[in-house]
Amino acid sequence: LERTFSIIKPDATRRNLTGAVNAVIEGAGLRIVAQKRIKMTRDQAETFYGVHRERPFFGELVEFMTSEPVVVQVLEGEGAVAKYREIMGATNPANAAEGTIRKQFALSVGENSVHGSDSVENAAIEVAQFFSGNEIV
Ligand code: ATP
Ligand code: MG
Repeated sequence: LERTFSIIKPDATRRNLTGAVNAVIEGAGLRIVAQKRIKMTRDQAETFYGVHRERPFFGELVEFMTSEPVVVQVLEGEGAVAKYREIMGATNPANAAEGTIRKQFALSVGENSVHGSDSVENAAIEVAQFFSGNEIV
């Protein structure tokens, strides 16, 4: 079965939406096979979002991701990467489809409640940044 990496971002944990997001995830048939609540360090956030280092919003993004705790997760299921991207909805909640996590919960393009890997290859890299093998069950 395929795996993807998920983050429930600070805007969602702050509003006690962890359970509501997990209900959408599990309702879509994805299994949460690893999960922990952490406060991301600046180093972790800069590494994680390294591809966006040159973008104008990079500083704001790192500030946001380290502002309050996040919940990092590994999700497993058939076509997990694409399925999670689908139920997350578009990056900007204004463009997100009805019923998606971002449509329901996101506050803005920056504070958009969740992250999901964009490829199977990146999923493996991102999972390895936050979990060791024995934490995934
Ligand atoms: P993620 O990688 O978090 O799953 P995504 O793949 O939908 O989201 P990316 O283009 O990879 O979107 O951007 C990464 C994150 O950077 C976005 O989720 C959002 O939090 C932030 N971001 C993207 N574009 C903007 C922007 N124009 N202004 C502020 N923040 C932005
Ligand atoms: Mg992305």
